[in-house]
Amino acid sequence: MKSWLNIAADTDFSMYNFPFGIYQIDHQKPRLASIVGDYVIDLAAMNALGFFHELNIAEGVFENNYLNDFIALGKKTTNRVRAILIDTFNNENSGLAVNEEYQKLILKNYRDVKMLMPVKVGNYTDFYSSIQHATNVGIMFRDPKNALLPNYKHIPIGYHGRASSITVSGTNFHRPKGQTKPADVELPLFGPTKQLDFELEMAFITGKTTKLGESIATQEAEDFIFGMVLFNDWSARDMQTWEYVPLGPFLAKNFCSSVSPWVVTLEALEPFRVQGEIQEPEVLPYLKYAGAKNIDINLSVSIATQTGVEKQISLSNYKYMYWNMNQQLAHHTVNGCNIEVGDMYASGTISGNDESAYGSMLELTWRGTKPIQMPDGSERKFINDYDTVIMKGYAAKGDIKVGFGEVKAMVLPAI
Ligand code: CA
Repeated sequence: MKSWLNIAADTDFSMYNFPFGIYQIDHQKPRLASIVGDYVIDLAAMNALGFFHELNIAEGVFENNYLNDFIALGKKTTNRVRAILIDTFNNENSGLAVNEEYQKLILKNYRDVKMLMPVKVGNYTDFYSSIQHATNVGIMFRDPKNALLPNYKHIPIGYHGRASSITVSGTNFHRPKGQTKPADVELPLFGPTKQLDFELEMAFITGKTTKLGESIATQEAEDFIFGMVLFNDWSARDMQTWEYVPLGPFLAKNFCSSVSPWVVTLEALEPFRVQGEIQEPEVLPYLKYAGAKNIDINLSVSIATQTGVEKQISLSNYKYMYWNMNQQLAHHTVNGCNIEVGDMYASGTISGNDESAYGSMLELTWRGTKPIQMPDGSERKFINDYDTVIMKGYAAKGDIKVGFGEVKAMVLPAI
């Protein structure tokens, strides 16, 4: 699909994508945006100029700090907005193509804008749905012969995380402090984590509410999922090891998580659906599903040092998930737990079978025993101060490419 605009052939933000986000220019009020190629599209300006007039959307929806009100309009409306965008940028006689004044009002160079947190996250859940990750962690911390716990193939394991500390890409943070208890000391210590790690994840965002007591079936889950972002679930491994028994991660996880700014719609990802792994033993009826529910999304992780030396350290793929989003959402709500617009559900660390596809330093360096050599001669067991971790993701099939851009953040020294 072509555009009358000049768009690079390999851009993440192709004519097949049109994700949604929140942007700011200078110190003006945040506004809803989409993006094609290098052009950020001001949706508030498009609405004011009548491009979406058939939908009668209030101005306040587009001049907004978050996407939540827009998402809450429902897929019928948001998909129509996306269809209008595709047509507007495809049709060389569209109201925008033929009007340079409109182009000045609507199109911004992505280098000139600041991207903000796309949604107000009410609730955040983190799953644990990559079987290779769960196996690796089981081998390292428990029993190499029985790495997976008995519940793993029956329950999409997850925990409720912290929504307040989810930040948009580019938000740097200080190394967290907390309790650790190395094996060779008797009493716990307090101080900055010595084992700061990333977790390569993706997250989906719900676009509809349910009432308390209602459940979502696997076959209707897509109606409730608006889109996806890249997600870095920063983790302090030494704190985690000491605190996680018996209730799971707490301060080792809640100090910061980072997300990519553009929410890619589930509809844009449809061409990249693939079959998931056959689940054996058979799952309970409420977790059964039909069709191809995994998605083939190429993922990468790089570390950039303070001096700008960068190394790609992992190449993974979202298709490696054992549990798909439909099952995660069905499980999350099977007890009547209600969901809200803007809730975020992360996948869990996404590791492939090959060790080059592991999604955390914990696994890549095998708990620090196999350090990663950096191009400047330094080595990494975990993440150093002033390191920037960069995650990227894109799906591609034939001529169609749909990408997420990146999520990155730099670790600052503890304060
Ligand atoms: Ca995680």
